[in-house]
Amino acid sequence: MKMKYLMPDHYRAFFNVPGNYGKRDSFWEFDIEEKKATCHQCIEAPKKYEAHLKCCTFWPFLPNYTIGYILKQKSESYQNAQVFLRRMIKEKRFALPIGLVAPPWYQKEFLDNKDKIFGKSEKMLCPYYQTATQSCGIWRFRGSVCTSFYCKSSYAQKGQLFWKHLEDYLSYLEMALAEEVLVYHDYSPRELSEQLDFLNIDPDQMNLKKLLGQKSLPIPQAKKLWKHYWQKEEEFYIKAAEFVDELPLKQIKEIQGALGTDLLQKLLEARDKIEICQNK
Ligand code: SF4
Ligand code: SF4
Repeated sequence: MKMKYLMPDHYRAFFNVPGNYGKRDSFWEFDIEEKKATCHQCIEAPKKYEAHLKCCTFWPFLPNYTIGYILKQKSESYQNAQVFLRRMIKEKRFALPIGLVAPPWYQKEFLDNKDKIFGKSEKMLCPYYQTATQSCGIWRFRGSVCTSFYCKSSYAQKGQLFWKHLEDYLSYLEMALAEEVLVYHDYSPRELSEQLDFLNIDPDQMNLKKLLGQKSLPIPQAKKLWKHYWQKEEEFYIKAAEFVDELPLKQIKEIQGALGTDLLQKLLEARDKIEICQNK
């Protein structure tokens, strides 16, 4: 499948900054066919995973602008995800200005028992998974981990390396863009750092420990986190998506920075190795 069908269009500019690296322009058209990981009929089921859960027993982080994009979609296929996201926003269920994180109890359970529950526990099924069709309800907008996960690659180690570098670059972009949105909407570095703590809950951190048993954020804490966007959360997410859509090239380059450029270069080198196999 071509990269341009695998990822949402708002990432295109980050693979296409002219003048930095010779073959960068062609990445969006790069075609990689993975024949071994047949997800419609999971190759790991029933031996490793339950067939109706596959490898979707995982609650991915969705950055603020991605929530905005999903809420803006007109297609019926996004309806379930939109209903879910609106419920999370309304009930203050860890929908933060930086994005939607897995609830603390889920994060702890995943950390403590990953080997026992992954692919096996219905309780851990991703909230965007569509049980009726056994497919992803946000496919084009799924996060970096999901976009780059192939349990087996037709290109063996070279393929796994390529997907790993794609994950690294996409995770970098997710965080860099979500943070850029916050900075441009008047959230201070300290407020940003408070929100980052929710992404990887440390159960030993006292202020987060008490959230382990809770389904929602306490109202005073949610109010403090949302500041001037309190009760305007959906509007904020939509603005975040529009902000990403309108980024000028200069800012795209700044967001990409030295680290992003290095990650992209590694990804392109991994892509080149696959192209050599494809042309043999
Ligand atoms: S990537 Fe996941 S769903 Fe696809 S075949 Fe592998 S384990 Fe199954
Ligand atoms: S977002 Fe989609 S691909 Fe990722 S775990 Fe959920 S259902 Fe599976």
